[in-house]
Amino acid sequence: MTLRFDNSYATLPPQMFTPQLPKPVKAPALFAFNADLGAQLGIDAPDAQVFAGNHVPDGASPLTQAYAGHQFGNWNPQLGDGRAVLLGEVIGKDGIRRDIQLKGSGPTPYSRSGDGRAWLGPVMREYLVSEAMHAMGVPTTRALAAVTTGEPVYREEILPGAIITRIAQSHIRVGTFQFFAARGDMQALQALTDHVIARHYPDAAGPAGLLDAVIARYARLVAKWMGLGFIHGVMNTDNVSIAGETIDYGPCAFMDAFHPDTVFSAIDQFGRYAYSNQPGIGAWNMAQFATALIPLMPDRDKAIEDFTEAVHRFPPLYEAAWLEVFGAKLGIGTPTDADIPLINDLLDLMTKDQADFTNVFANLDQDAARDQFIDRDAFDAWAVRWRARAPDAGLMAQYNPQIIPRNHRVEEAIAAGRDGDYTHFDALLAAVTAPYAPLTDDTARFARAPTVEEKVVRTF
Ligand code: AMP
Ligand code: MG
Ligand code: MG
Repeated sequence: MTLRFDNSYATLPPQMFTPQLPKPVKAPALFAFNADLGAQLGIDAPDAQVFAGNHVPDGASPLTQAYAGHQFGNWNPQLGDGRAVLLGEVIGKDGIRRDIQLKGSGPTPYSRSGDGRAWLGPVMREYLVSEAMHAMGVPTTRALAAVTTGEPVYREEILPGAIITRIAQSHIRVGTFQFFAARGDMQALQALTDHVIARHYPDAAGPAGLLDAVIARYARLVAKWMGLGFIHGVMNTDNVSIAGETIDYGPCAFMDAFHPDTVFSAIDQFGRYAYSNQPGIGAWNMAQFATALIPLMPDRDKAIEDFTEAVHRFPPLYEAAWLEVFGAKLGIGTPTDADIPLINDLLDLMTKDQADFTNVFANLDQDAARDQFIDRDAFDAWAVRWRARAPDAGLMAQYNPQIIPRNHRVEEAIAAGRDGDYTHFDALLAAVTAPYAPLTDDTARFARAPTVEEKVVRTF
């Protein structure tokens, strides 16, 4: 398997990373390979030995990246890739530079007390959810391949080890900037800023332009999550991609029954990263990014003033993106502020009646949506107002997926995978990567909401 590497991060100042080889595993077995993405990267035939870290391909310069971050609001000056190795960067057939990273590849200097490994469950979840996100037009890291390692991983129980090969525009995070800013390492902070501007935002003029551009991308990203009922689960600053991609699929999930307070993470006790808090946390994360860029500015007081203004642009940018997203979901191509009550009133009805988020929007003009509501009269009254806006069915079909990776189906795939049966994973992956296709006898079960017994309320 040949990859044409062109590694730029490895040429940055040496304190920005640590050279690190993946630790070989006993018995790699490839269970998933993304042929389309592979072709885009120029990969002829997949090689499990590479995706397991047993064979380092020619041209790779394996390294782990240092970063810091605010975890649930608390500052942690030292994080970094604790279980991941960046093999290097490849320029795709589309001319785009992408990172190739192995996640679950063994201990690194940043592992602290962790084992550097991953188990099959989270690897399958990340694979399914990230590829579904991509299929639904959400900027995201991608899954190229997944292997089992033939080695056990020790959590509360003994679990099968696995490694995911993750593709990203880069793995640079808000926390990468914070790491060097906190240390007062101006050389690294400047080099990182120059690198990110050249790589991701070539039109941005200096740190101020970069801040504006990242804020704009991140506001759109969070709005897209909201439009899919997606809850990231760990919006720590180390999990915020500077390229504006969804990254680090941990206790993430798509809601079934809609409620704005929904949380799936057992460790998120106070609901910091609940569905409805995501936009506010988005702004908070951009304030941390702005703070990390301040040391680069010659006039500190002026920079604080300007960057505060920039961060205050996040909410209106988000609101505009949200209106566009939910307008399209309702079939309204050019929504105006007058449409905001129409959207919010539907969401309120859905909240009251615990309606299924995906199925309401996917079937809005059919009984299948109306049936989701206990208060049918209220829904009918809403629908009269909605029809008055002459919704465009084509637009709706484009923005309302029929199939998302529902938690109970992901758990079902993981449970079967633990027994060596990947057929559920394969079928679910095929379904979630064609989210707008008309349902068939084979895929209808993936569109069905969970029964009370099937419902999964924790993903971590
Ligand atoms: P996350 O919550 O996945 O964003 O990870 C937070 C930090 O913990 C990162 O620095 C990870 O690299 C590290 N980490 C997570 N799991 C492990 C593990 N099994 N071994 C070592 N480090 C880990
Ligand atoms: Mg992380
Ligand atoms: Mg993680």
